[in-house]
Amino acid sequence: MSKYIDRVLEECRQKNAGEPEFLQTVEEVLTSLAPVIDAHPEYEEASLLERMIEPERVIEFRVTWLDDQGKYQVNRGYRVQYNGALGPYKGGLRFHPSVNLSIIKFLGFEQVYKDALTGLPIGGAKGGSDFDPRGKSDGEVMRFCQAYMTELYRHIGQDIDCPAGDLGCGGREIGYMYGQYRRLVGASEFGALSGKAVSTGGSIMRAEATGFGSVYYLVEVLKHEGETIEGKRLAISGFGNVAWGVIRKTAELGGKVVAMSGPDGYIYDPDGITTDEKIDYVLQMRASGRDKVQDYADKFGCEFHAGEKPWGLGSDKVDIMMPCATQNDVNMDSAKKIAASGIKYYIEVANMPTTNDALEFLKGQKHMVIAPSKAVNACGVAVSALEMAQNAERLYWTAEEVDEKMHAIMKNIYNSSVECAERYGLGYDLVAGANIAGFQKVADAMMAQGIF
Ligand code: GLU
Repeated sequence: MSKYIDRVLEECRQKNAGEPEFLQTVEEVLTSLAPVIDAHPEYEEASLLERMIEPERVIEFRVTWLDDQGKYQVNRGYRVQYNGALGPYKGGLRFHPSVNLSIIKFLGFEQVYKDALTGLPIGGAKGGSDFDPRGKSDGEVMRFCQAYMTELYRHIGQDIDCPAGDLGCGGREIGYMYGQYRRLVGASEFGALSGKAVSTGGSIMRAEATGFGSVYYLVEVLKHEGETIEGKRLAISGFGNVAWGVIRKTAELGGKVVAMSGPDGYIYDPDGITTDEKIDYVLQMRASGRDKVQDYADKFGCEFHAGEKPWGLGSDKVDIMMPCATQNDVNMDSAKKIAASGIKYYIEVANMPTTNDALEFLKGQKHMVIAPSKAVNACGVAVSALEMAQNAERLYWTAEEVDEKMHAIMKNIYNSSVECAERYGLGYDLVAGANIAGFQKVADAMMAQGIF
């Protein structure tokens, strides 16, 4: 590996010792860039990697709100504006008790290269809070969102930074935050937030985009192997919005999700989650706030495996595995089970769902094809950028128009990843290819813009 990368990684470890998730993603991305760094000595002269790993701006703030009992509650809010070389900062807000600076920096760093891969004019950012929306009343969620925006509004704007949703932050939360933003600035500036309801400047298909786009990417991967999605059986983790999109699009294209997990275990339904009733029930399970996938097994009478993940299922039951939950869902233990199961396709969907050792191990399995989340899940943020474009035009596009663009974007991400890996002699390596393709776009823009 390039000495320059080694040195930058060592400095990064020293400077950010208490931030394991952030160090994990920096290590994963930088180690895959060796052939590009070797081919471009000017990057080292320009201290490009040092600049890329340092966020342009980190904003941390207090969020005080009143709960239903009239008690003061205090949370911590974040926005990390990571890299604006390609356009206004863009990326979601995560509301979850696990949120800390390491998590937001890891997500922000990933977002920079994901956003670059879309080919759209957006920089990368991420934000959020350690607020836990579970068990909160609607009024409490609204007061929290308003308090959060009361600080954040001064840092964002349609040409500055456009936040959207992530875990724990969906259409309802974006609606409350947009309302507060509009009151504070005194203008209908739709492009300051994306993931809005279609009635208030949102794009049609935004809710479906991440899941649908992941399946469009999967279709490209299968095509490369001379296969189609028809009849394919998928195991996924998670049952949130993204998982729901994957389930729906897979069913529409003739495949089926047969296993799905939650914090309590996983369900196995050999008939697949394919009917409207079952697919709608996944949404209801999420909305109930119970966080239990067992409810599905109880309702539809299928197997439930308490306390287990679906990664141990064999190739007699599953063809494709797609982690759709959250970071580090698949560790070395799970990776060994996946490799031993005989399945061929491991397609990451959630942001950084695989630990670095597990990812290296899976990449080393000659019988497997591995695809990385920053490419696979990029359609969510891509449709957010399309929402910004519609807002700027003051027009709404039809579902067909948006879907056509989603297809083209995902094909382009897949193709450019394949081309970049080949160009640097790495063969068919979708993981390194995506890192290089994203990196190259950001690197070109930063080099062109001079010192910053
Ligand atoms: N949070 C999503 C992501 O991880 C979407 C971000 C956005 O739409 O700005 O890409």
